[in-house]
Amino acid sequence: MNSSDQGAYDTRTAENAQARPDLNSLHVREDVARAGRCANVHLPTGRTCTLPARHPGSCQFVGPEDAEQVAAQ
Ligand SMILES: [Zn+2]
Repeated sequence: MNSSDQGAYDTRTAENAQARPDLNSLHVREDVARAGRCANVHLPTGRTCTLPARHPGSCQFVGPEDAEQVAAQ
């Protein structure tokens, strides 16, 4: 538990987690969510999913201008 080998393994595990931004970087954009949309934001790209809330399949991220139009509806 206290060996240096375990510490090295933990470091690699943390790096692997950071290589999965799709799991750790999703936030919801409130104005788009209020429009009844999924509104997940992909932070690395700044894009927002404008598909209906709880849509099947993968998110489809669009640019900020398209997200603004959806939120304004
Ligand atoms: Zn989505």
